[in-house]
Amino acid sequence: MPDFFINGQPVHAEKGQTVMQAALAAGFFIPYFCWHPHLSVAGNCRVCVVEVEGEGGGSSWSEIACNMPVSEGMRVLTDSETVREQRKQTLQFILLNHPVDCGICDKAGECLLQDHHYTYNGEPSVSTVPKVRTTKYFQLSDRIVLDNERCIVCSRCVRFTREVSKTHGLGIQSRGDTSLVRAAEDGRFNADAYSDNVVDICPVGALLAKNFLHKARVWYLQATPSVCPGCARGCTVNLWHRKREWKLNHLDPKQNTEIARVTPLENAAVNGPWICNKGRDLAQIFDRVRAEQPMLKGKPATLEQAAAAARRLIEEARAPVALVSNWGSNEELGAFKAALGSRFKCFVKQDRQPEPGEPLQDELLIRADKNPNTATAQQLFGAAPVAFPDGTDLVLVWGEGFDFGGLPRGAKVIFLNAWLAPENGHADVFVPTSLQTERTGHYTNFAGVTSRFERCFGKAPSVAHAEEFFARLAVAAEVA
Ligand code: SF4
Ligand code: SF4
Repeated sequence: MPDFFINGQPVHAEKGQTVMQAALAAGFFIPYFCWHPHLSVAGNCRVCVVEVEGEGGGSSWSEIACNMPVSEGMRVLTDSETVREQRKQTLQFILLNHPVDCGICDKAGECLLQDHHYTYNGEPSVSTVPKVRTTKYFQLSDRIVLDNERCIVCSRCVRFTREVSKTHGLGIQSRGDTSLVRAAEDGRFNADAYSDNVVDICPVGALLAKNFLHKARVWYLQATPSVCPGCARGCTVNLWHRKREWKLNHLDPKQNTEIARVTPLENAAVNGPWICNKGRDLAQIFDRVRAEQPMLKGKPATLEQAAAAARRLIEEARAPVALVSNWGSNEELGAFKAALGSRFKCFVKQDRQPEPGEPLQDELLIRADKNPNTATAQQLFGAAPVAFPDGTDLVLVWGEGFDFGGLPRGAKVIFLNAWLAPENGHADVFVPTSLQTERTGHYTNFAGVTSRFERCFGKAPSVAHAEEFFARLAVAAEVA
């Protein structure tokens, strides 16, 4: 555990740490492009250069912080005149062939190259030689385009496919200013279930997600912490959506309530800094056509009428069964248990099954259970398969995934669902429910880790929060 000095201040370092790791842990800033805390050291961008003072008045020397182990008593300068001059020259070199087309680049606003350029250089190129032109908007995969002119050949994306997703889907062809990142020809990058992480870790705007391409400027968006419901891993994510102060009133106002993009929210206990591509496509799950009209046998009703009718059915039932949703939050599942758990015979329903072609399970993140909260649902209601006892006369179906053809003959139905579906109109009582993005709550993943999701958007007045709706039905349970 050596102690050393950064800019004259004593700093403690753990055994084996590099200067970069110890400096960042102690709160000192060192710029970087190619270094990444979860990838191997490549040491090719050279912008993390620091000055090491010579011992006993000897001459000082420069070294890259990402690849230099800390040694006892060493004295490092992270922002000396020498360091700033070397970083300036490095940035002149990195920008030699870069198009500086920030005005049309999706990375603008969160680009390390913009930030470091303005901190350490900020001057026009000293080169009088025309920039090397190369491919822009090259299709790297079905999901990602590559602007080679913006690529600074840091190799982060290549290392990700070797060290994290392990598909070895990317490589770098050729040398010098003809270097090009390219995908393996056998399509393995296209099939990489984690490929979109390279868009996040690309320090510049070279790798771009097609589902976000030119969709929004990042400064119009805000990130709301959430949990991916795509499988039982429950990765923590940021849902990016339009800021209220930048609300669109006339031009495409739907954007105000849409998820613009999904990025990982680093969480060492669940997903580290990564998510799978399914998590990026959450908008496709949430942005389906919503059910917003409560109904009694297909006829429009108010939420109050629906609650009153549901209460009556519960009071009159002799053998009611509930199919509980494993997309319910801990709060909703707890509310159901408290209000109605003793009145119904309860089974946990699998709301979603794997889609055709979807990766089932792997060693990194993806789990075979494609639902976010089976852990809490089964803890409260058991793991028995759905079965209707003889005489079942009322079925409460909460959420998706149940074939109404399997209902017991003559049984009445109370159905809670968030989306438009043919079954909605067949239920005796239909109640449209809010989405995860319209409320706060928690899911507990397969390993017992509980994560919180926050509200992004408001719900329609005619839509119920399931937690509150169950509390309103408690009266019926008491009467029965
Ligand atoms: S595409 Fe991005 S991450 Fe990949 S080498 Fe180029 S700059 Fe680095
Ligand atoms: S691994 Fe599961 S929880 Fe994580 S992003 Fe993918 S689908 Fe979502």
